[in-house]
Amino acid sequence: MSLIVQKFGGSSVKDAERIKNVARIIAETYLKGNDVIVVLSAQGDTTDDLIAKAGEINPHASKREMDMLLSTGEQISVALCAMALEVMGLPVVSLAAWQVGIQSSGVHSDARIRRIDSERVQAELDQHRIVIVTGFQGVDRSGDVTTLGRGGSDTSAVALAAAFRADLCQIFTDVDGVYTTDPRLVPNARKLDEITYDEMLELASQGAQVLHNRSVELAKKFKVNLEVVSSLERKPGTKVKEVTKMMEKTNIAGVAKDTSIARIALVGLQHNPGVAFQVFDLLSKHNINVDVILQSIGREETKDITFTIHKKDQEEAETILNEHRAALRFDHIEADDKIGKVSIVGAGLMSNCGVAAKMFEALYEAGINIQMINTSEIRVSVLLDEEDVNRAVKAIHAKFFDEI
Ligand code: ASP
Ligand code: MG
Repeated sequence: MSLIVQKFGGSSVKDAERIKNVARIIAETYLKGNDVIVVLSAQGDTTDDLIAKAGEINPHASKREMDMLLSTGEQISVALCAMALEVMGLPVVSLAAWQVGIQSSGVHSDARIRRIDSERVQAELDQHRIVIVTGFQGVDRSGDVTTLGRGGSDTSAVALAAAFRADLCQIFTDVDGVYTTDPRLVPNARKLDEITYDEMLELASQGAQVLHNRSVELAKKFKVNLEVVSSLERKPGTKVKEVTKMMEKTNIAGVAKDTSIARIALVGLQHNPGVAFQVFDLLSKHNINVDVILQSIGREETKDITFTIHKKDQEEAETILNEHRAALRFDHIEADDKIGKVSIVGAGLMSNCGVAAKMFEALYEAGINIQMINTSEIRVSVLLDEEDVNRAVKAIHAKFFDEI
């Protein structure tokens, strides 16, 4: 007997038919003699609809109240799914994150899971019940409901899999696995049979929508046996693991794009020690994540620091930086939200310097200008005009995958 965590995303539970379908998958797993913990997202576009509803009343609602509102989406899903399993005569219980004891930090709308109490879920499993848990949420020290950031249900699932040492964590979605790039954009994108945690982590944090990046971080840390599978078709998905068989002839696992970023440049900073520290310390105190950073020397002993952040943080970042303009002593801010990032990711990048050149060649051939370049051991990212992003993905994908 194994313990299996199964997570179903919003599209997999979007209506009654889909919920019944999900219930059948869960039932099949349970009836094979496994213990099953299920994690669900809100149905379809529920979370977006709730955000829109809030906007009609208060576009600047506090994050606490937003969490109170958004957490209801997942609560609907778990109750409905439990009802579908009840109809099938199976023992089941649905639980909200606060009932489980998914303890989180108190950062509303972006909380981190700190600890998961095991008693309640274990007691239910001991009674041979299927346990269905709300994804995307936790409870903070003061007992308030928090949410984990958009797409956070994947992270809930992996955290539960780690806490209960599950044998397998299956992420069910409406695609049948992880692809070399978004198949809606590039129809001949290929499904990967397996991918390493590191590659998946880079792809997820570079904009591939398949998995929440923090879920992959957790999976790597706790060596969770992770699998991305389709809820609509029965066929093998993509396994995410420590090492994979090297892909033949190609050094990259995939191409990702991200158009949710904005670029901010602080122009005319003093060229003194401590300036970068002051800037990024300030942003981190406001929980603003910074991605690509570039520093360049300007005229007259000044320097410019340019960095990218999520579009949603742009307004706040500009406000905070302007408030501290006297202390930071910069001349002015330049902001641009019409940019995008395209990345290639592959464990083989480390040992093959020709790979980056091949990416730049593809961009050159497509006549696309690069604004900034950033690399890690297994990734090369370029910043481009937002309108060039899709063309860049197609050109790069063709360069790496069409010739094989
Ligand atoms: N329902 C949440 C969202 O739409 C969480 C999730 O689906 O993972 O972001
Ligand atoms: Mg998702």
